[in-house]
Amino acid sequence: MAAHQVASVADTLPLEWKYVSEGGATAVFSYVGPSDPQFDGMVLRLRKCPLGQPFRSAEEMTQEEPDDATVEFQQRCMERLVPPIHLPRMVSVKLNEPWLRAFSEAHNIDRRAERRRVDEIDWSRTKGVLATDLIGTDGLAVEIKPKWGFLPSPKHLTTTTSSVKARTCRFCMHVHLKVLQGDTDVSVGYCPLDLFSGNPERIKLALESLWSSWLATDGTVNNWKMFVAGMIVRPQTIHDLKVTLLGHGSDEDDPNVLRDKCVELLMPLLTDTPVLKVLAKLQRTLDILDIEGLSSLWHRTLVSYADPAAGPDTPLSPVGQTSSLFESPDPTIDDWSKFIDQYLMQIGTTTEEEKMNHAQPLTSNLRYYLMAYLLSATFKDCSIIVKPTMPGMHGKDSITIIDLDPKGMDRLRKWERLDAQIALAYGRIDEASRKICVDAGVDAW
Ligand SMILES: [Zn+2]
Repeated sequence: MAAHQVASVADTLPLEWKYVSEGGATAVFSYVGPSDPQFDGMVLRLRKCPLGQPFRSAEEMTQEEPDDATVEFQQRCMERLVPPIHLPRMVSVKLNEPWLRAFSEAHNIDRRAERRRVDEIDWSRTKGVLATDLIGTDGLAVEIKPKWGFLPSPKHLTTTTSSVKARTCRFCMHVHLKVLQGDTDVSVGYCPLDLFSGNPERIKLALESLWSSWLATDGTVNNWKMFVAGMIVRPQTIHDLKVTLLGHGSDEDDPNVLRDKCVELLMPLLTDTPVLKVLAKLQRTLDILDIEGLSSLWHRTLVSYADPAAGPDTPLSPVGQTSSLFESPDPTIDDWSKFIDQYLMQIGTTTEEEKMNHAQPLTSNLRYYLMAYLLSATFKDCSIIVKPTMPGMHGKDSITIIDLDPKGMDRLRKWERLDAQIALAYGRIDEASRKICVDAGVDAW
């Protein structure tokens, strides 16, 4: 492996970084200190932990911490699946406890109160990630979380679930469940199959729906975020966006004019880029069996491994769970890299003997299907940052995929339950009232 460049972030002052945003696992800060070629145009991504529960114990803190898995995963795996020009540049950097504690103290106030109540920057870490600042300090940047871009093949579904899951997409059904549960931060009306359709009219519709949900939820949806001059825009601070998109003198009051202008700026980027096509293809060709088919293959495999002395009543462990019967460890980066060799071979081969028959998956290929499903989840859960160039701005248009982290086996069980719950709730709707989502297929572009 190539040696990383190690920048001394710990020599900068906490207030030379500005809070940008945060997700479930990490918080992001952009460099605003004195000009420095190592940090200019970069962001620092720090791991978070539940309040008062650092990831590493005092004993572990005396040992060398490996580089953040994201960096190695990107270099050894993601760059083989996604054109590297659409990935952020990343390096691992060294940090220390006093610096992280001071940093956390200085920036906690910038975080939303709901976040502060549950987690904090993990000061037990000794490494962070320095990455390209994709939001930038000028113009507009939009972060879109597209989610699932395909309908499952009915092949591995039951007759009950296929009548539901093969017609309405997973995202639209999940929104329905969330609304039933009283969740208000949801993108009602947006369908990812429109965004992934390759059809300009449908892409435009998807962007307009995302904008409308952003406005309707007071900017709290996670599928659409806008940044102007490096700052997140909320409906209350829409003035900044208006100035950027329509100019200082504009007295335009119709919010649709602003929406149309924004959509107009993004459209050429989204219709020209291979990014959406690449993501949709990866999601689809990695989630081959659907969680239902995967779970049934898992159980079939467990039965074949089972100790006959254990008797028929011994419960089988749920999908992905390590048990006394069967081990299902989380893949290492080496495992991922080998998996990608195999995946690329499967995608590329025309030889019948080499091709797996996905219609009748073999128990001997269980590990392949488990890893494929996890990797598909990485691409279903990532975001893209779209940054159009605007008059007077340097640089060029860019679309970058972010948040490509590997997922662990322990998630499969949760996803299986959630999937069943989503399909069940949606199946209760009168058939004529169900939404029909149109999958344009692999060859849409
Ligand atoms: Zn849909």
